[in-house]
Amino acid sequence: MAGEARSDCLFCKIAVGEVPATVVRETETTIAFRDINPQAPTHVLVIPKAHHPDAAALAAAEPQIAADVLREAQAVAAEEGAESYRIVFNTGAGAGQTVFHAHAHVLGGRGLQWPPG
Ligand code: C5P
Repeated sequence: MAGEARSDCLFCKIAVGEVPATVVRETETTIAFRDINPQAPTHVLVIPKAHHPDAAALAAAEPQIAADVLREAQAVAAEEGAESYRIVFNTGAGAGQTVFHAHAHVLGGRGLQWPPG
């Protein structure tokens, strides 16, 4: 069922503290933690605690929590002092998604090129 924790999902395990992560913010519905392989001085992932395979599925099933993720992404950028930043939702393997639990990448702290690769 959408939203239920999955035993085979790495980010569900991070959400319940079963797998360690460097958590920077937490709300009732979201957790933000530093990416283990940072691509910028600020590289934080914001995830819903509930399992949804990608951002589109999250927005369709629980739009309020999708809004929470965006609000938290902005809060992370503000806390990190990033005036300009990028919020990325890789969606689908062809776009580079490797973990199929919705997550926003918050990237900042350096100049970012456009278009991304
Ligand atoms: O968008 P994508 O699915 O590729 O993003 C997954 C991200 O999760 C990667 O940037 C990867 O470095 C990160 N990751 C992490 N901690 C883990 C496993 C993956 O921060 N234990």
